[in-house]
Amino acid sequence: MVQTRGPLRAGRYLRWVIPTFGLALLPWSAELDALAPPFRARLETVLAALRADGWDPVVTSTWRSDEVQGVLHQLPATTRATAGRSCHNGSIDGQPAARAADVWQGGLALGVVAGVPSALEAQVPFLRALGAEARRAGLRWGGDWHGRDSVWDTWQLGWDPAHVELGPCGG
Ligand SMILES: [Zn+2]
Repeated sequence: MVQTRGPLRAGRYLRWVIPTFGLALLPWSAELDALAPPFRARLETVLAALRADGWDPVVTSTWRSDEVQGVLHQLPATTRATAGRSCHNGSIDGQPAARAADVWQGGLALGVVAGVPSALEAQVPFLRALGAEARRAGLRWGGDWHGRDSVWDTWQLGWDPAHVELGPCGG
């Protein structure tokens, strides 16, 4: 992977944030080139293993600016990490370099965002497979994070089962 140098090239990562966030144009990304190389290598191993098993893993979020992290932190049931403290934040030499990604089977369905039980249940087998592959690749998995109420409690999937990361983060 070619690492570019220079000021934070956030402009190419600008995208419309989901309307519930206030429909703002903020820098965040779902691209793998916004990942730190050590994490990206492990994630690609996970994605390949899932595809080999017939899944269609879609990375819906990689890097977020501190600004977006701050917005998310204000929302209920999203993230506990304040601006700059998430594995989705961070940069290397001005280049976005996240150490986390969110991965869903077939993409992030609106029904999942809305918490529709049937839509959640449809993701469960995939999320369990994601967790197994993440562990195998030496990544932390948000499905192992318990201790707060979650729409995933019915399936014992913690509170962020689409999230995988490679610490340390938020230094
Ligand atoms: Zn995440």
